[in-house]
Amino acid sequence: MLDLKGEYEYMKPDIDEAIERCLDHQQWILGPEVRELEDRVAEYIGVKHCVGVSSGTEALVLSLRALAIKLKGKEYFDRSDEIITTPFTFTATGDAILRAGAIPVFVDIDPLTFNVDPANVASYLSSSSSHHSRVVGILPVHLYGQPCNMAEITGIADRHGSFVVEDVAQAFGGNWKERKLGSIGHAGAFSFFPSKNLGGFGDGGMISTDDRELADMLRMLTKHGGKDKYNVEHIGYNARMDTLQAAIILAKLKYVDEFNMRRKRIAELYTTGLRGIDWLQLPGDGPAVGIGLDPGVGQTRGHVYHQYTVRTRRRNDLQAFLKDRGVSSMVYYPVPLHYMKVFDERSKIAGSLQNAELAADEVLSLPIEPLLSETQVEYVVKCMREFR
Ligand SMILES: *Cc1c(COP(=O)(O)O)cnc(C)c1O
Repeated sequence: MLDLKGEYEYMKPDIDEAIERCLDHQQWILGPEVRELEDRVAEYIGVKHCVGVSSGTEALVLSLRALAIKLKGKEYFDRSDEIITTPFTFTATGDAILRAGAIPVFVDIDPLTFNVDPANVASYLSSSSSHHSRVVGILPVHLYGQPCNMAEITGIADRHGSFVVEDVAQAFGGNWKERKLGSIGHAGAFSFFPSKNLGGFGDGGMISTDDRELADMLRMLTKHGGKDKYNVEHIGYNARMDTLQAAIILAKLKYVDEFNMRRKRIAELYTTGLRGIDWLQLPGDGPAVGIGLDPGVGQTRGHVYHQYTVRTRRRNDLQAFLKDRGVSSMVYYPVPLHYMKVFDERSKIAGSLQNAELAADEVLSLPIEPLLSETQVEYVVKCMREFR
């Protein structure tokens, strides 16, 4: 799926020099590269503050914890506080809500974008006045690098008085209209896990926000919950970003737009090559999202193709067929969160989650390594077309 060795070779002088510099200065904890990366990413995303953290998961947990402290004056949310999210995501999204003390409410996805359907969020909020008041926030995930409909989600959140935290783990560099993802909600949680669009050589993450108070709180939480070691105010973590990871990611940041463009180019080749296969749904099939966008292209605008994900009823056969021909493919995600034991009795299900359940059986992500050649992409297309 990915050629991390090839990517390293491509950027080797920059990365080696960055590591070399760390070896020279030996400031492994909160060295100068961490603040430099925070400032550079803040500028790139278009927010006032970024806070480096130890992973994308911690970025989610800390964002929610900081919001609990700010909005409720409590260390954690209450078990009756609800946060609406998608069941069709990586476990960490739902898990972060549990770790922040709240209860995840799973609402169904849009079967065309695989992202949370804003209509389902709105309908849960209006369905009953009893749980109406319990929803404190919405946690949309820009799955596969494709933006959620942020106009609708922020509109619903504003009307209801709830916060929005964006899970941007798969969508670094993506945008919703003129705004970069991660700059639209109250906070955005990024991951620099090695396989993400911007990945380090280990775990790392970042939180973006325009809220100064939130940023200060987040910094405290990464350092055990205090402004300094002997003045601890909150239940904190050791969740700082490593200097070494910051240095590597800084070196790679220079390439992220080019690599996202390469992903888009590969996606175009797939879409051109696979269009018209009647048993296959391609990304961007279906009506456009957002106002004023062209039908058919609206869905894929701002998409950074962390994954190029197709869908077919014969997913398992297709995957085996491709494997026999030397083509790797992955299923993200085979199990929706509401089927997992950890969420039994710790989550709520809002209506039918049939679209998420069906997607789990039908999605397949094709190779979208940015350094793939056209010939390699054409080979994948050829194999797909041979499948009967
Ligand atoms: C990868 C990922 C995370 C977690 O990030 P880590 O850096 O692995 O902790 C959270 N949410 C989504 C959607 C992800 O893909």
